[in-house]
Amino acid sequence: MRALRDRRLLMRLTQGRVESMEWRSAMKAVIDNDACTGCGLCVETCPEVFEMKDDDVAVVKGDAVPAGAEETAKEAVEDCPSEAIKIE
Ligand code: SF4
Repeated sequence: MRALRDRRLLMRLTQGRVESMEWRSAMKAVIDNDACTGCGLCVETCPEVFEMKDDDVAVVKGDAVPAGAEETAKEAVEDCPSEAIKIE
């Protein structure tokens, strides 16, 4: 009985560590709103991370780049004609 309880505790701890490692590896995108011209290219390239706001500037969705969107987020940084996006 105790072995089963210990195993469940170990599984919970391991799952928590894996989740926190994924969280730490997530990138964060930042847009300089003064530099953004509102061309919309970043939204076309990576809609998982960027969206247009009513005042025709791009904004970042959420706090972190979701898993699986890292490469397209980097493409958006490279393709932005105003160099307004940074990845941290
Ligand atoms: S690609 Fe650059 S300039 Fe164009 S909307 Fe996105 S952040 Fe703004």
